Amino acid sequence: MNVLVTGGAGYIGSHAALRLLEDGHAVTVIDDLSRGNQGAMDALEGIGSDFAFVAGDIGDRPRVESLLRERSIEVVMHFAALTYVGESTQQPLRYYRNNTASALALIEAMEAVGVRRMVFSSSAATYGEPPPELIPIREDCPQRPINPYGQSKLHVEQILADYARAKRDAGQDFAFASLRYFNVAGNDGKLRLGEDHDPETHLIPICLAVALGQRKAITIFGTDYPTPDGTCIRDYVHVEDLIDAHVSVMHALRPGDARAYNIGIGKGYSVREVIDACRRVTDIKFTEVEGKRREGDPPSLFADPSKIRKDLRWRASHTSLEKIIESAWQWRQQHPRGYGR
Ligand code: UDP
Repeated sequence: MNVLVTGGAGYIGSHAALRLLEDGHAVTVIDDLSRGNQGAMDALEGIGSDFAFVAGDIGDRPRVESLLRERSIEVVMHFAALTYVGESTQQPLRYYRNNTASALALIEAMEAVGVRRMVFSSSAATYGEPPPELIPIREDCPQRPINPYGQSKLHVEQILADYARAKRDAGQDFAFASLRYFNVAGNDGKLRLGEDHDPETHLIPICLAVALGQRKAITIFGTDYPTPDGTCIRDYVHVEDLIDAHVSVMHALRPGDARAYNIGIGKGYSVREVIDACRRVTDIKFTEVEGKRREGDPPSLFADPSKIRKDLRWRASHTSLEKIIESAWQWRQQHPRGYGR
């Protein structure tokens, strides 16, 4: 198929582009490189038979329309977004502009050109802070985001749902799926791609940077949460499994579909457990500091992934937290400065 991967120079988008190229699809990446890595694009050169990278903004509707036409795009995997909960609470308008308004422009461009499939990168942040009896989280859990990041993603899910309904009512073909990610970690098994954010805010990459001596300590954001060890619980899925879910969904979409799936391993780990696992993997007893809570962080988020298991027989193949961290550690050791910015 001819696939447009928006945000394809980012951590998750680049892994999607890689997998699609290896599966023989024609892949076009659009990324404004504001958070993505040119190094990831360089790494994809020569993989597969048809890869194109365009540095551009998905909010630029005329440009996206031309691209959809020129590359005869059949399906869009939409990853391009700003993804920091904390930043979203400080700069909400930037998040609504980048994540919601730009997605709307992208969907309008798809409508204008007649592109009828989208796999949308949504987030468990759309669930907000579910009550304990609704954890592990199923797709029918009420979506009540507690930060602008989650809200910006939920708006896009709602736009897609309304649009899909209108197309169905008009007897026209459109289908989409929203994949609600929990936490993502690890990298390509052949170490061609890795996780490199600027700024880096994620727990596992920061622990690895501390282990490498690039940072002094890992700060635990809050030790007074209502969880067994007082720190937040999250569900860490390997990026290759996450992308495998995207590919399964892409192939499964049928006219009129409006699907939503939670993507996680179905088990949560606390921040302390993750830090300890990073120490075991790196064999370095790096320092931790107990700090304040980070605004917008719910105490516990982990998935009940049984819907995608039942519908598509997808399940995470990497279920060991240590193995997931191990792949991230291998890439980091080879690329101590990430993609070398
Ligand atoms: N976290 C932390 N210290 C850090 C970075 C993250 O304690 O330096 C915690 C964070 O509060 C959350 C978990 O680790 O509970 C995972 O955070 P991350 O930023 O990796 O992903 P998010 O859950 O925000 O998608």
